[in-house]
Amino acid sequence: MTPGGATKHKTNMKPIIKFNNGNGAILCNCCRVIIKEYLTKEEIEGKTNLLLCEKCEEKRYLEKCKELLEYFNVDYSKDTIKLTDGGNSCIMNPKSKFYKLFGGYSINSIAEYVAKKLGKKTIYIDY
Ligand SMILES: [Zn+2]
Repeated sequence: MTPGGATKHKTNMKPIIKFNNGNGAILCNCCRVIIKEYLTKEEIEGKTNLLLCEKCEEKRYLEKCKELLEYFNVDYSKDTIKLTDGGNSCIMNPKSKFYKLFGGYSINSIAEYVAKKLGKKTIYIDY
């Protein structure tokens, strides 16, 4: 697998604003569920960061986490995800494509998050 290859997807999402009853509502870009009703003037003009409902947001975040683990060769396909000493290093390079989402986080902490979400265990391997 090439880093940042197959799992890369574009995120040019725009807020979806609908007016059914005059109040307006923001819909999730993914599942079209209503995220927010009774919008402010700014939100009606599209000035909002609300693109996805909580569920879809979390799903998307998890996908990004997996992408990061693949990039750093952390295997999350088994029942137990191995944490290593190297995994304690944090994403600190602002030029890294992962910095925006994961800046300051360690690879291990992301592995732990993925493990929790996928119902897996983590084990610390000291080389
Ligand atoms: Zn959704």
